[in-house]
Amino acid sequence: MTTEHHEFQAEVQQLLDLMIHSLYSNRDIFLRELISNASDALDRVRFAGLTEPALLPEGELAIEIRVDPEKRELSISDNGIGMSRDEVVENLGTLARSGTSKFLATLEKSRNAGENSEVSPELIGQFGVGFYASFMVADRVTVLSRKAGEDKATVWESAGDGRFAVADASRDAPGTTVTLHLEESKEGEEGSDYANEWVLRQIVKRYSDFVAYPIQLHMPGAEEEKSAEPLNSMKAIWTRPDEDVSDDERKEFYKHFSHDWNDPLIHVSTRIEGTFEALALLFIPSVAPFDLYHQEMAHRGIQLYVKRVFIMDECRELMPEYLRFVKGVVDAEDLSLNVSREILQQDAQIRVIRNHLVKKVLEALGKLRSDEADAYRGFWEQFGPVLKEGLLSMDEKRERIYELMLCASTHHESQLSSLDEIVERMDEDQEFIYYLTGSSLDVVRRSPQIEAFRDRGIEVVLFTDPVDELWLQRMPPSYRDKEWKFVGEGEVEFGDEEEKKAAEEAREQDASNFRELLTRLRSALQEDVAEVRLSTRLRSSPVCLVREEGELSPHMAELMRQTGREIPDAKPILELNASHSLLVKLNTLCDSDPKDERLEQYAKLLLGQALLAEGGRLTDPTTFSQQVAELMERAL
Ligand code: ADP
Repeated sequence: MTTEHHEFQAEVQQLLDLMIHSLYSNRDIFLRELISNASDALDRVRFAGLTEPALLPEGELAIEIRVDPEKRELSISDNGIGMSRDEVVENLGTLARSGTSKFLATLEKSRNAGENSEVSPELIGQFGVGFYASFMVADRVTVLSRKAGEDKATVWESAGDGRFAVADASRDAPGTTVTLHLEESKEGEEGSDYANEWVLRQIVKRYSDFVAYPIQLHMPGAEEEKSAEPLNSMKAIWTRPDEDVSDDERKEFYKHFSHDWNDPLIHVSTRIEGTFEALALLFIPSVAPFDLYHQEMAHRGIQLYVKRVFIMDECRELMPEYLRFVKGVVDAEDLSLNVSREILQQDAQIRVIRNHLVKKVLEALGKLRSDEADAYRGFWEQFGPVLKEGLLSMDEKRERIYELMLCASTHHESQLSSLDEIVERMDEDQEFIYYLTGSSLDVVRRSPQIEAFRDRGIEVVLFTDPVDELWLQRMPPSYRDKEWKFVGEGEVEFGDEEEKKAAEEAREQDASNFRELLTRLRSALQEDVAEVRLSTRLRSSPVCLVREEGELSPHMAELMRQTGREIPDAKPILELNASHSLLVKLNTLCDSDPKDERLEQYAKLLLGQALLAEGGRLTDPTTFSQQVAELMERAL
């Protein structure tokens, strides 16, 4: 028999340290995590047994908790699927989820930045750390596991100090036993003794009542009969009428199956009736998981049951990608227990169920928005960018998502508005919903491109999520008959016919006054810009850049470059503010000596300023700053 020593993957140790050193007000949840794992393992063996009955254990599928007060040991056993030696090493030594190290680095930072050394449970909860929570209460953890269908067992042991040992072992039957060597200094807040029967009963009742398998507690010296009595009621919570389930029960159920440590924001319970039947209990989390934007994030999502029997996790077929943050259980009456992913993808029932669920979720969000604006805003901050991905699909749900959208705008500094509110604030004859995109609100709020809009009290919607660029590119449908218009492209015209005419005349006048300067600037910048012209959108800034109609916005071009795409440089248009004193002076300089060498230098500086103001990057920052320095020196 060989004992191997392994080091934890660096991220695991980092996580363990964070957990051990963070004083949780609620260490009790370690038991919930272990019971959840046991319950998952039972689900899996039950499912495997549908096609290969030999894998099923002889006795009832169950979870057993045993206590040895003398040795201060607590063990949790299941007769579920178990793990092979390789799986033990893989599952209990590494964190396989992508983005893990980045996430842990943020945690570490928040811990170092904080005055005390605690990381909030909410943060760690986003991660769903499961098994490793054992080290919050134990100074040594042993796992003995035997995979269903195999003879050999494996024992794993660690003190959470960077290393673990693995050796061959034996176990009477397949399944897993996790034994915690309880550490007195790691007791719960009220000094909960995890070797105490009453304490254990309370914790199981509170966190794991609805677990579908009996959880039996064996205390030393207790009668067999008493031990066989499950601690939990095992009632599938989604089959009970909504009003019979307490908020607490529902929350704990959510935490159990989702592995999220935070309370959910809202739940949606619904029943599909008709030619076939299904029940669903769905939740919208309050905090986004850290890997929401990773491709494979549909981590737990929707669980599919058929007639109360667990079939699969992560049932993507039941929820579109833009609702991937929704978690829950769907229990279908009429599907076969042998249903496979391939079948699901083509199943007409599944499509109907999915449509129904999407409708219900969007309705629930709509209700949250009208009933609890603050909570809705919290939701939007966490999940808005994901929901907006739904605007990229062409189905009729797009309208609903439009209605749910919250946007920043020039109207409020800190409040978000719905499109309805924005349209209602508009002048009736305003044809467009004007918008500007950029990398951050700070940048777009100050953009010179919107000065004239602000000046005239025309609201501009501000978009800063990468997904906004995508749906706005795809010619979004008008909203309540108003078309979308990017303020940074083409020419802008304000007011009625008369005003437009007057503005045009003024511009012609300006153009003739500035003709020489415009020519000089054009020739100085011919490499960099497509055109230099006078602007109708500037008020206080001297210059800005705009794009030809239909061209990529600078933010979009930047995003595409970040993904490694070659984006041909489309030359922007440099617009000048004819009423700005800087331009007036430049014009005078140019009139007196069109050959003045400084004009060339100023042209580059103007372009640089315009680029910086829209959050862009200078192609030659060194020369730019040297020129600024020279200018300052001259001015002093
Ligand atoms: P999570 O449950 O979030 O995936 P854990 O750290 O709790 O993460 O567990 C890691 C993996 O170890 C699980 O995904 C599972 O594959 C395996 N595992 C944990 N406990 C058990 C168990 N009781 N029986 C079988 N496999 C288990």
